[in-house]
Amino acid sequence: MRILLIAGHGGTDSGAVAFGRKEADLAREFVPMIRDALGDYPVEVEVYNPARSAYHDIIANGYDYNFKKYDYVLEVHFNAYRQDPGNGQTTGTEIHVTPEEKTIAVEQAIVRRMAALGLKNRGVKRSKLAVIMRAKAQGVSSALLEVCFLDDADDMKVYVSQKKALAHAVADGIAEGYKLQKRGEEVMEEKNIPSGWAKEAWERAIAAGVTDGLRPQDSCTREEVITMLYRAGVFGG
Ligand SMILES: [Zn+2]
Repeated sequence: MRILLIAGHGGTDSGAVAFGRKEADLAREFVPMIRDALGDYPVEVEVYNPARSAYHDIIANGYDYNFKKYDYVLEVHFNAYRQDPGNGQTTGTEIHVTPEEKTIAVEQAIVRRMAALGLKNRGVKRSKLAVIMRAKAQGVSSALLEVCFLDDADDMKVYVSQKKALAHAVADGIAEGYKLQKRGEEVMEEKNIPSGWAKEAWERAIAAGVTDGLRPQDSCTREEVITMLYRAGVFGG
């Protein structure tokens, strides 16, 4: 499964500003934390270039972005009640999907898990938000998460003290919705056993000391391949 994470507003637009906090900065802080939390699961995660704004690129400038290489697109924003300084009552987490999205189990799981950490659950809403509409138009499930209200002191207290747990709540919600199992011990064990056809070569490679701790079914980079060949004496010298 491949997931694209987008920090709302990105590097070219601050988004909402309150109490000296910029929405774009918060989103760019939180997105890598979600990416790291998704490391618990067998998924590939890409982050939209945080120096750029997906909205400006794709909507304002009309860049024809290829969402089709992903299975799920999540855009991350922080909410604000009419900007600074908030009304002290409008709080909580919410998530938006397009009117075309068939099921919302993933999104319900995300906000339920985030709410368990102390944020009010404002639920799943259907909205024609531009970037997620564009992804969905290419057939890719998408959502826009408003983590919490950056102009609400209580919300921000929860965010600041629990951002890592909140990032895991997002990752675990995606996993719950897509029925993903955590990268488990069993998988690790399997990776440690070479396939039958590779067994003899692998054992010889271990004996020759060229594998450098890589497991039989790990993928490796070209520099690792070249180093293994070099250690095996392929280049002479
Ligand atoms: Zn925003």
